[in-house]
Amino acid sequence: MTPAAPIHIVGGGLAGLTLGLLLRQRQIPVTLWEAGAYPRHRVCGEFLSGHGQRVLGPLGLLEECEAAGAQWARTALFANEHRTSPPRPLPQPALCVSRHALDALLARAFVERGGELQTRQRRESIPVEPGWVQATGRQPQAQVGGWRWFGFKAHAEQVLLDADLELHVSRNAYVGLCRIEGGRVNVCGLFRRQVGEAPSADRTAETALRGVPGSPLHQRLATATFVPESVCAVAGLDLRPRSLQTETRWLLGDAAGMIPPFTGNGMSLALESAEWSTEPLTRFARGTCSWEQARRDYATHSDSRTRHRLRWAGFLQRLLFLPAAPALLLTLSRPEPIWRRLFALTRGG
Ligand SMILES: Cc1cc2nc3c(=O)[nH]c(=O)nc-3n(C[C@H](O)[C@H](O)[C@H](O)COP(=O)(O)OP(=O)(O)OC[C@H]3O[C@@H](n4cnc5c(N)ncnc54)[C@H](O)[C@@H]3O)c2cc1C
Repeated sequence: MTPAAPIHIVGGGLAGLTLGLLLRQRQIPVTLWEAGAYPRHRVCGEFLSGHGQRVLGPLGLLEECEAAGAQWARTALFANEHRTSPPRPLPQPALCVSRHALDALLARAFVERGGELQTRQRRESIPVEPGWVQATGRQPQAQVGGWRWFGFKAHAEQVLLDADLELHVSRNAYVGLCRIEGGRVNVCGLFRRQVGEAPSADRTAETALRGVPGSPLHQRLATATFVPESVCAVAGLDLRPRSLQTETRWLLGDAAGMIPPFTGNGMSLALESAEWSTEPLTRFARGTCSWEQARRDYATHSDSRTRHRLRWAGFLQRLLFLPAAPALLLTLSRPEPIWRRLFALTRGG
């Protein structure tokens, strides 16, 4: 039998590592370049909801996450700057695990299965040629539609939550809180600032994440201590939906497009896009299909699975940032059928 052609993956986040693992399961030679090293903290709500959980199961990683202390979220509540909704059951449990733990577990499993992992290797140029896949995360945009979008995250100790997931919405920001391993709570927020508006001098990641004094978020974090090494930031976020049809590169995860984070579906999309890439890449590596055909098959499948999800998530995110949104959100999320339907629409049914 002719040996399989090697696949090169640039970017060792969830999408790249998962693809590497899935290809190694099929005995495809894989080299993966990652700019950083493991374990490391990343800006992420660390709330994994949607079909992506199904990808981790067969890889044996759900059990590993649980053994590492990951928590299952079963309830959620919403809050604005003035009031809090009662906790309600999530239509589907979500896995809450730090990226510090999850990415390291994936990296270890990839190496154990014979993948070649090159850490601290930032590829300055990524070949656009057969066998090269790009999972480098978001494509930075300094501003989108007159706004600069950025994120902060920190792990906090001594926080008691009223629901497994709390989503606190305020003017130009939302912050999610969920329990992760080690009795800690992940505090992660998406923020926006108008282009031309000066960043406030006394606003650090920590003050931004703690919210407006007097708000339910601020009260919830009153006793919290933030773990210094977990504090991180990301800027240049572009949350507009994209299509892969016009692409010449093989892009997956956030590199293919970011879903608004309030959905808790970005990690899932990264895992799902790795799964959708596996079969066409295997055909290419085994020589039964051209690179172009494999890439087109993946792009078509990916677009059909993400189009509606990204549109709905974008629409709801725009609602979230309307002045009346926090109150609207509390009302909208109350009737059970609407809540379930919105949940499904932002996760691909
Ligand atoms: C504020 C915020 C909150 C979020 N909350 C949630 C949530 O609660 N739930 C959820 O599911 N998702 C959430 N997300 C989204 C989630 O974090 C991403 O969708 C997910 O990390 C995408 O994984 P990825 O592998 O595509 O990209 P990443 O995790 O960003 O990985 C990309 C990797 O590529 C590497 N890299 C980049 N360029 C190069 C290069 N040139 N050479 C080598 N390596 C390179 C980087 O170092 C990085 O490790 C949130 C995002 C933000 C911003």
